[in-house]
Amino acid sequence: MNTKKNKLTNSEDGAMEQAYQNYKLLKEQVDLWQQERSSYWLKMLNMAEKPPYLPILDLPSDAIIELWQRLNQAAEVQISDAKLKEMWQQFKESQDIMDEKMSARFQMAVRGVAHLASQMANEKKVSAPSFHDHGGITCPVCGEDSTLAVLAPPNGKRAMHCTLCGFEWEVNRIGCLHCGSEDAKQQIYLKNEAFPGIEMVVCQLCGQYFKEIDTRESLVQDYIWEDIRTLPLNFATELWLSEHAKKSDQIH
Ligand SMILES: [Zn+2]
Ligand SMILES: [Zn+2]
Repeated sequence: MNTKKNKLTNSEDGAMEQAYQNYKLLKEQVDLWQQERSSYWLKMLNMAEKPPYLPILDLPSDAIIELWQRLNQAAEVQISDAKLKEMWQQFKESQDIMDEKMSARFQMAVRGVAHLASQMANEKKVSAPSFHDHGGITCPVCGEDSTLAVLAPPNGKRAMHCTLCGFEWEVNRIGCLHCGSEDAKQQIYLKNEAFPGIEMVVCQLCGQYFKEIDTRESLVQDYIWEDIRTLPLNFATELWLSEHAKKSDQIH
């Protein structure tokens, strides 16, 4: 096991610790809500015949408001249901008017409800389109794009994990999940000793990337937090891509 001290500075450690505490507080509320309310809300969900089976915008508004309000109360923020309904409507119309903290609670509420859709999809054993049917990174349940792949024991079978609804579906074991190229030479793996078991897979053909967690090396309890915790790898990859683009500009 790699136990070398990571290269994050103390202040970054502190900020990450704070972010974790905030996340944990909200996550506990989401878990409690799901224990209490999932059997009720699962009866209210209607899945489509084909993917996306239950897009975010079709989730029951009342379930989102109910959970969102719990998260607001846990954070001691007073706001009326009517105001939350108005903000949910504005979100649906693609207007972004929430402050950062309200937005964080809103996203946790949407995820919490979307998880029920994912649970239902698993119970119904819905089929996920394969890569060759233009599957790939788009979640068949909620319709959002995922950038998180998971390699599972014992032999590294690859699945996508949706960080929004939590649904997992099997994908091609090799190649770029964005453009479908199976040319291994075109893929570059970026990693950092601070994050063992995680690689950023960058495709030189399409210039896109995804994060890959090898659960044979690093056991993950909570993929949402794991994705947040390892955001420095996304930033480093973006930087690498922009520098790489500059260099190839100079060559041509
Ligand atoms: Zn999803
Ligand atoms: Zn590609």
